Amino acid sequence: MQAVVYAGYGEPPVLSDVPEPECPPDGVVVAVRATGVCRSDWHAWKGHEQVPLPQIPGHELAGVVTEVGPEVTRWQPGARVTVPFVCGCGRCEYCAAGEAQVCPHQTQPGFTGPGSYAERVVLHAADLNLVELPDAVGFTAAASLGCRFATAFRAVTAHGGVGPGEWLAVHGCGGVGLSAVQIGVALGARVLAVDVADAPLEAARSLGAQAVVDSSASGPAETAAAVRELTGGGAHVSLDAFGSAGTCLSSVRGLRRRGRHVQVGLLFGEGATPPIPMDVVTAQELEIYGSHGMPARDYPQLLGMLADGRLRPEDLIGRTIGLAEAPAALAAMDAPTTGTGMTVVELPG
Ligand SMILES: [Zn+2]
Ligand SMILES: [Zn+2]
Repeated sequence: MQAVVYAGYGEPPVLSDVPEPECPPDGVVVAVRATGVCRSDWHAWKGHEQVPLPQIPGHELAGVVTEVGPEVTRWQPGARVTVPFVCGCGRCEYCAAGEAQVCPHQTQPGFTGPGSYAERVVLHAADLNLVELPDAVGFTAAASLGCRFATAFRAVTAHGGVGPGEWLAVHGCGGVGLSAVQIGVALGARVLAVDVADAPLEAARSLGAQAVVDSSASGPAETAAAVRELTGGGAHVSLDAFGSAGTCLSSVRGLRRRGRHVQVGLLFGEGATPPIPMDVVTAQELEIYGSHGMPARDYPQLLGMLADGRLRPEDLIGRTIGLAEAPAALAAMDAPTTGTGMTVVELPG
């Protein structure tokens, strides 16, 4: 089959002929119909994360089941499916509780094994991890949920629990942040978007954000003060969708009393331990959550909102390409891609 392969970290990804994948006993083979191009793929390719080499990138996929392992009971060839980017093992206490997003033995296509920049991909623990697509949800829209939209959905709903009329502040309006803006608006929240650049703030406004804060010239304290001012006392729910000590602090400090901060953006190195004011957390009864992907269990609620048109992740797609163009799309991420929208690779059925 055809797949995009890189031989080593930073070496050019190339469209190649590779052996067909073998179906594991508890898994399936899926014919990929669409797969998102994500900055996480770029990080792995650059060696910021250790992956087996050579590697096929790709973890944001939708397609059709073509082969089913003997231990699989829930799936048959022909099923239209997608899958969370964090797949659980199906055997541990977290998977048994439906919390595969924190499975200690998790698998991720494109990271722990070959990914979905390919005609076919293997998915493990299929009974736990696969999600059936409603007829009304196309492959490209499903793949565009990727990690960004699904992650934003869980952060805003499961952790943030944002309600109609409440203020949702979104710090950082990249892929995850703009997804959160669209989801918050769909849920009836009043959304305030924070970013350092005009284009993402404009995008947030066009998605329905009622207020924006340009934080390019202010520190966390001033940014948080602007958020509290515009929201009449602070946000009920606030996301750090960027992932830095500064945006984390802005988010926590911009909360209303009893507000909920959700850390979505990943923090690395020295920035991974921001000085959160725990005195304020106690006195104002703030709640601090970490959010990591979304388990298969939570997808029906999200897919239901796609099927009835309340959510439109396809509005965040910048362009669709073929598999032959995927190597160039990955390499193009050497430059920042803020505000250009997501790229989705489409494969013929
Ligand atoms: Zn598990
Ligand atoms: Zn991703």
